[in-house]
Amino acid sequence: KELPGGSKDHQLTVALRIRPMNEAELEEGATVVAKRVDDQMVVLMDPCEDSENHLRANRSREKTYMFDVAFDQKAQQEEVYEATTKNLIEGVISGYNATVFAYGPTGAGKTYTMLGVDSEPGIYVRTLNDLFKAIEASRDDMDCCVFMSYLEIYNEVIRDLLNPSSGYLDLREDAKGEIRIAGITEFSTSNAKEIMALLTKGNKQRTQEPTAANKTSSRSHAILQVTVKQKNRIKDVSEEVRMGKLFMVDLAGTERASQTQNRGKRMKEGAHINRSLLALANCINALSEKAGKGSQFVNYRDSKLTRLLKDALGGNSRTVMIAHISPASTNFEESRNTLLYADKAKNI
Ligand code: ADP
Ligand code: MG
Repeated sequence: KELPGGSKDHQLTVALRIRPMNEAELEEGATVVAKRVDDQMVVLMDPCEDSENHLRANRSREKTYMFDVAFDQKAQQEEVYEATTKNLIEGVISGYNATVFAYGPTGAGKTYTMLGVDSEPGIYVRTLNDLFKAIEASRDDMDCCVFMSYLEIYNEVIRDLLNPSSGYLDLREDAKGEIRIAGITEFSTSNAKEIMALLTKGNKQRTQEPTAANKTSSRSHAILQVTVKQKNRIKDVSEEVRMGKLFMVDLAGTERASQTQNRGKRMKEGAHINRSLLALANCINALSEKAGKGSQFVNYRDSKLTRLLKDALGGNSRTVMIAHISPASTNFEESRNTLLYADKAKNI
């Protein structure tokens, strides 16, 4: 079945966003090494001074990467939202599932893209605003209800970011085979200010631990789950309910354990974070091969993240990956790793 707003063979969109240089980078004399070339191409320059070595090895200091869409420091929140997420809304209202991921190392701009700031709200609030508008417009024919949950997965444990005192929550499969989180807060409001306030407060509850490389590194995946349930009014078949789920995920920082010099507890976190990210990458890979050949087994069981997202990764669902990098020479290695990962994802 063809998905609304796009062909069925393009279920994965990969975007790349380069944030502006920050003060710390400017102060330490960093130069800009990552640049957007056009709306799909990004170039990364190796800051290595030894240009003779490069010449001798017949290697270019510059490498280009292609994406479905590329943004630089000039891109506004609205532009990023429109090019990545806006066209998922129609599908979710029609009962399809979708997932939007923010990927990249700590400090690269994931939370800015997803949550944003009061003056420049991100994808969460913009998506919900447009979702409510679209539902309002179809009100004569349809009865819709929308509810949301905001949670984190940290060390393979699920916590309710809107009610952190509720402790660890369990993933369960209900009689219909739907994955649910037992005891999670579900809220329902169409007031954008209220939503922004709730999510900003919830975001402060995320587990952030100091590491050697970053004072506060986000070690958790934050997930805003939006469920749209719909009844057809005209037909008077009250049981006919369509359900679409949209997950918007602010992934844990992808920085390497070696760089953060993680040990002990941090090391264990690293292992869990990698497990979730690896399981996610494996699922996306298997899904793309399945689309091509029709037989690949997709293992969602490997992590909490992939178990929760199961219905929104497979089948007729759509996936958007927004990779984030810093433009600074001091973050060259992390940027290269992120570009390579995203570039690989794009090819599937
Ligand atoms: P992450 O969530 O990936 O760790 P953040 O989103 O917290 O990174 O970004 C780190 C800092 O950079 C924050 O102060 C944020 O406001 C700022 N920032 C990130 N991206 C942008 C952007 N595109 N424009 C302006 N400021 C940004
Ligand atoms: Mg963050």
